[in-house]
Amino acid sequence: MSDDVLDPSDPSAELAWLAAQARGQLELDRLLGVPAALVPPLRPLDARPRVVAPPVVAPPPRVAAPAPAAPPAPASDEDLAALAARRREAEGKLDALARRMAGCTKCRLSEGRNQLVFGQGDAAAEVAFVGEGPGYHEDQEGLAFVGKAGELLTKMIQAMGLERDEVFIANVVKCRPPGNRTPAPDEMATCLPFLQEQLEAVRPKVICALGKIAAVGLGLIAADEALGRNRGQFRDWRGTPVMITYHPAYLLRNPADKRKAWEDLQKLFPLITRRRAAGSSQA
Ligand code: SF4
Repeated sequence: MSDDVLDPSDPSAELAWLAAQARGQLELDRLLGVPAALVPPLRPLDARPRVVAPPVVAPPPRVAAPAPAAPPAPASDEDLAALAARRREAEGKLDALARRMAGCTKCRLSEGRNQLVFGQGDAAAEVAFVGEGPGYHEDQEGLAFVGKAGELLTKMIQAMGLERDEVFIANVVKCRPPGNRTPAPDEMATCLPFLQEQLEAVRPKVICALGKIAAVGLGLIAADEALGRNRGQFRDWRGTPVMITYHPAYLLRNPADKRKAWEDLQKLFPLITRRRAAGSSQA
């Protein structure tokens, strides 16, 4: 080996060369009057390499929380009394409808259901969420949006600064389609008057259609239209604005689209007067 050419296959030669360089640098520093720097001890050739910590993987970006809403103006006793009266009236209408619907056999979905799922929530809600139809858990419990998809919807609602019992939740069809299949057009058409009556009783300020079937069932988009091209837009349903967004069950399978759903839900904020500033929970 010459003085300036190293044999890359000989680590001891490289080490000797580095040591010579270090000694030369120290000697040069001494001549220039530069204080000697501490030189870390050389690692023995047979020392095991240090275990390098794996790089810290940044968590996926969180969906931005909405800016804190201005605290709502305290409602007057008059406002509260009017709201309570409206709630009582709507509850009466919904109770009467539920009694009429009990045991409904208007369409073939009655044949396979365990129980009819009417829907639930505040009868004077400002926001109504409309889904497709009951699934297995809903059919078992008699409540709309329970199970994993229901838990995600709850998180979405809470991220909006609301609690689940402050909104109204219902489906286009009230009985579970066999095997969770998509409700047929004639089944949706037969059941739709019940949903219409519910929404006319609640009179929400805004409706959120969860998923394509809900949007189709409400007559907002055609069955052959893609949800992706229609979500995030307000449509009109009998004078009430409707926001179309993804169904929570879809979001469980496609979590990357939660951000888009959250963008859609934020568009509802200006229409909701009773929401609180959103906390840290996010969809
Ligand atoms: S889906 Fe609707 S119309 Fe059909 S049986 Fe159930 S409640 Fe009646």
